[in-house]
Amino acid sequence: MSRPVVAIVGRPNVGKSTLFNRVVGRMIAIVENTPGVTRDRLYFEAQWLNRNFTLIDTGGIEFKDQSTPLSSLMKQQAEIAVEEADVVVFVLDGKTKATVEDEMVAKFLRSSGKPVVLVVNKVENFKNYEVESYEYLELGFGEPIPVSAAHGMNIGDMLDKVVENLPEDDSEDVSPDVIKIAVIGRPNVGKSSLVNKMVGEERVIVSDIAGTTRDAIDTPFRFEDRDYVLIDTAGIRRRKKIAELTENYSVIRSFRAIDRADVVLMMLDAVEGVTDQDKRIAGYAHEAGKAIILVINKWDLIEKDDKTINRFERDIREELAFMAYAPTQFISAKTGQRVHKIIELVDFVAEQNCHRILTSTLNNELREWLYLNPPPSDKGKRLKILYATQREVKPPTFIFFVNDPELMHFSYQRYLENQLRKTFGFEGSPIKMIVRRNK
Ligand code: GDP
Ligand code: GDP
Repeated sequence: MSRPVVAIVGRPNVGKSTLFNRVVGRMIAIVENTPGVTRDRLYFEAQWLNRNFTLIDTGGIEFKDQSTPLSSLMKQQAEIAVEEADVVVFVLDGKTKATVEDEMVAKFLRSSGKPVVLVVNKVENFKNYEVESYEYLELGFGEPIPVSAAHGMNIGDMLDKVVENLPEDDSEDVSPDVIKIAVIGRPNVGKSSLVNKMVGEERVIVSDIAGTTRDAIDTPFRFEDRDYVLIDTAGIRRRKKIAELTENYSVIRSFRAIDRADVVLMMLDAVEGVTDQDKRIAGYAHEAGKAIILVINKWDLIEKDDKTINRFERDIREELAFMAYAPTQFISAKTGQRVHKIIELVDFVAEQNCHRILTSTLNNELREWLYLNPPPSDKGKRLKILYATQREVKPPTFIFFVNDPELMHFSYQRYLENQLRKTFGFEGSPIKMIVRRNK
């Protein structure tokens, strides 16, 4: 599903990060028990009034050039917000007058036509607050919402307004038999080379029109009578320029592509190995429950003997131990070596991610697993697993009903996951396991 993005913009010190943290803090309290909630200084998977969206603090994006003057800093922030966001939260400082920079940003936002929620922060006295200042109205976004980020006042009203402005849910915009693929990896790992090999050079060049709609940034293609969409191919080609601006930004962009994908092609550089940024992005794909393939590119540059592949395989497994389920493919996007195999694997892992096990079959197997390796007891109490059921696909999600969830140890849960995989496959797919008390 495509998750809308809400970006917070505003001058330094108006209180953007305080506001961001306030929203995060409030929601963490609500979603604490949901698995896979990711926390980051920069972005947050938020939920309000049953709508999901990604909140981004553009002020937290570090620009490489620290000496950037304020006006161009603001311009870059606003550009990122307009390019990425469905709704912009524009924050002003209620203790000072609107500045030239504020007006510049306002002008830019107005001309973009994006919905803007104008927020005046640092308002401490709500009883006597009136929008007397007319200069705010002059910015052209209607009445501002007064808030105090520091004291958590009026944040709910602001979020209501944000949600009102979110686009309609467009999760059904692509037919379900189309497999959506995100090609992810650091700059220069070979993403655009691979994309070109997969869809043919001309196709990519032809579609290289700066588009504002979601579709224009994606590239559909057909292979052996099946339809695919490569997500954010525009971003893949533009990323080089942007990467110079900020690395964080390309990470955020990757996260968005992952959110929309069925299958993630995580590209690694055979020469450089797995970096911290690779791990972070892979971790996100894992949490998001996406089918994933580890694509090791530039294989042509490696001098090989008969043990080379095994050594590489082992190193990658060690670095990305949390995704032992992901198949690897060693390719050269430059020569095209084994590129055709990727599509076969894409079909395979996409299908595994949607695999559904009948409850009766599952419980027959479960009895066998429990018999082979009975749950350990803890302080005289023994875990009893009464039954299990698969609640969802994409990712496969299992609920185990037990006498006491506290007694389910990590190692036993891992045993069950291994058995699930041994018996039913789920190659390339994370598995979510929920342990519930049987009532
Ligand atoms: P950013 O640079 O826009 O991210 O701003 P920060 O969130 O770092 O906040 C800048 C300063 O404003 C900090 O000293 C905050 O404590 C202060 N601040 C933030 N929100 C409020 C508020 O609601 N009232 C007051 N009085 N100060 C605030
Ligand atoms: P992107 O930034 O991830 O899109 O990377 P590009 O596709 O633009 O590739 C970056 C550089 O690596 C270019 O000079 C490519 O020619 C080179 N490159 C990409 N794939 C391969 C490969 O498989 N082998 C070799 N030797 N070079 C490659």
